This record gives sequence, structure tokens and C-alpha cells, in this order.
Amino acid sequence: MPTRLTHVCCGTQGVHTERWLDRRHFLQTFALGGSAAGLAVLLPGARAHAAGQTEAVLLSCMDYRLVEATGHYMASRGLKEKYDHLILAGAALGALTDKFPSWNQTFWDHLGVAIDLHKIHTVMVLDHRDCGAYKVILGEDLAKDPAKETAIHTTQLQRLGKMIKEKHPALDVELFLMALDGKVERIA
Ligand SMILES: [Zn+2]
Repeated sequence: MPTRLTHVCCGTQGVHTERWLDRRHFLQTFALGGSAAGLAVLLPGARAHAAGQTEAVLLSCMDYRLVEATGHYMASRGLKEKYDHLILAGAALGALTDKFPSWNQTFWDHLGVAIDLHKIHTVMVLDHRDCGAYKVILGEDLAKDPAKETAIHTTQLQRLGKMIKEKHPALDVELFLMALDGKVERIA
């Protein structure tokens, strides 16, 4: 039975099928019609939050292998559902590389929106080992030399961290490098 919905995250309205709902892309979904109350949570387990403040913004890579590990790490930090998530291939490098200037702008624009909209006070930047974007952009397979890989990620993370602090001195910046097994090391 099709249901008319508004999606809190994107603001679109329309008629969607149960099959569409199963995709669970939208976690905050409300029915507009169909009942006297006109309001019902449709997705099992979905929780609605009023728009407001949250803790942090996370910049991570797009790599499909680390999506779950990234969620686990954020939960382990007590930040489950308490952070905005920006994704750019290469994370820190994606935000900095002059090969993709529109990505750089996308990062700063979204960071600005997170500050304005959600009053975030921490920026977390999470690079990862064996990153294909680093390989594509820098033209070198760093995974063969873990020490060099650490050094190059550290350089990029610190560069971005410094720029964030210059533009937004009130923000805390945390820098990380994740291994493919999900272990995270903090970069000073
Ligand atoms: Zn990557």
C-alpha cells in the first residue's frame, strides 16, 4: 500500500512503496496522511531527533571496506548518532588536493553548514591505510611501506588540521589513521 511521506533528512515528499521503505536510506520518516493523527514512525528502530546541536563532524574516506568499522569506532567514542558525516575519497587528501578543487570547496562548505546548523565543536578527520584515493592522487602505492604510509597520511592530516584551526579557531581537531582491520591510531 503506497504511503505519502515527508523525509526529514531531504525534505522531499511523495508516494513510496513498502519496498522503497525497506531500503532504510532515510532513518527519520514520518507519514503525513492515512491516520487521524497523521504522524507515525514507519521504520522499525528508527528514532526521530529534533534538529539542534550535535558533537562533531567526521570526515572519512568513501571506501566501502571501512563503513562498518567507522560506525563502530564512532560508537566506541560515545558518538553514535551524534556526528555529521562528510565523505570524500581520501578524507584529508580529498579535502586538500588540487587535483579536485571542487572537493576542497565541498569540504569547507559542508563544515560551515555543520557549524551553523548543528553547532559542532569538534572536527574528526579519519584517513585509512591502503587508501585507493591516495594511490590515485599521489600515484604511489603506500600500502607496501607502512612507515612511509603513516608519514604521508600524518603530513596530510596535520596540514588539514592546521587549516581547520586557522579558519575556525574555536573548533577542536582530532586526526586519525585507521587500519583495514578497523584499528584506529591517533595522529598528534
Ligand atoms: Zn580511501
